[in-house]
Amino acid sequence: MFMENKFIPVSEPNITQKELKYVVSAVKSGWVSSLGEFITRFEDKFASFIGTKYALAVSNGTTGLHLALASLGIKKGDEVIIPDLTFVATANAVLYTGAIPVLVDIDPFTWCIDPKAILKAITPKTKCIIPVHLYGQPANMDEINNIAKKFNLYVVEDCAEAHGAEFRGKKVGSLGTCGVFSFYGNKIITTGEGGMITTNNRKLYETACLLRDHAMSKKKKYWHERVGFNYRLTNIQAALGLAQLERIDNLIDKKINIFSWYKNNLEKLKNIRLNPESLWAKNVYWMICLYLTDSKVSRQNLMEKLKSNHIDSRPFFYPISQMPLYKQFKHGNNRQSYQASQHGLNLPSSTKLTKKDVDYICQIIKKILN
Ligand SMILES: *Cc1c(COP(=O)(O)O)cnc(C)c1O
Repeated sequence: MFMENKFIPVSEPNITQKELKYVVSAVKSGWVSSLGEFITRFEDKFASFIGTKYALAVSNGTTGLHLALASLGIKKGDEVIIPDLTFVATANAVLYTGAIPVLVDIDPFTWCIDPKAILKAITPKTKCIIPVHLYGQPANMDEINNIAKKFNLYVVEDCAEAHGAEFRGKKVGSLGTCGVFSFYGNKIITTGEGGMITTNNRKLYETACLLRDHAMSKKKKYWHERVGFNYRLTNIQAALGLAQLERIDNLIDKKINIFSWYKNNLEKLKNIRLNPESLWAKNVYWMICLYLTDSKVSRQNLMEKLKSNHIDSRPFFYPISQMPLYKQFKHGNNRQSYQASQHGLNLPSSTKLTKKDVDYICQIIKKILN
């Protein structure tokens, strides 16, 4: 229940008695590290939720992306095409392998990678595309997969913000070579820190299993023939994750409801646009997005006024190429990424919001923008 002087956060975890029960059971079992029944239960249930043969739990979304790329053999001298507008983890995971992240523009409707921009960036060194399903909206996977097929490229879906989102009736994470999810505290479900790789590719799955655990030989304990990593998730985290996964349909339905409350309240405003909605995709609205198309009020101003009314908000990501460290990886002018980045913000999107909270937030927004 919203109270006048409570700050409404952009996001917060949704933890119930079920999560507490599972976590206590994991702790009491003595299996506190990365062996234990909750790991396999979480992986199996996640694979069947996404609709892939395999799911592999990892320590976070960033290590998941790195592990996926390393397992596919991405290395120094390779190029990986990614959208300029994303969280920095997408680019960093590519850099960890020694490969080059090629930053291309987004589509102005989905705010996800633009297939036309991918085509322009392909060279003989290109090995992989990482579409990011940004803020819960799926990228155009048909066009991306067609390009990948034509040029023999891997597709690693960055699903960190889109658990349960669908493209033409199939869940993201089941459409490319593999999918990578994050369970950070503000994601659709959380394990505190954590991640998951989903795939139907047995070879990729087996290599990733090996590299996740220091590439320790299956036949000979403490024998290593490659440089692997410790990217394991703990049984305690998996217990939290399993409880969250058993509730995920409700959490996603709540996200969709929250979006509809915002939409009903704000759709008459002329100078804004909300999250993309398309017939071919199920958006899970990880973050409610408000994009100022043509407003006399600046984003900064709007955010400050929201704050003085106890409403939290966040700007969209910076384009990766705007940061000096990554400027060299920019490909094209990426105008749409810069536009979206300047004019977009995230509104409170927590699954704990009530309709009354959203009505209050929208009433304030209308007052500011009208
Ligand atoms: C959160 C996020 C990640 C990284 O996940 P962590 O679990 O925080 O490492 C990667 N990509 C995108 C798009 C994200 O939003």
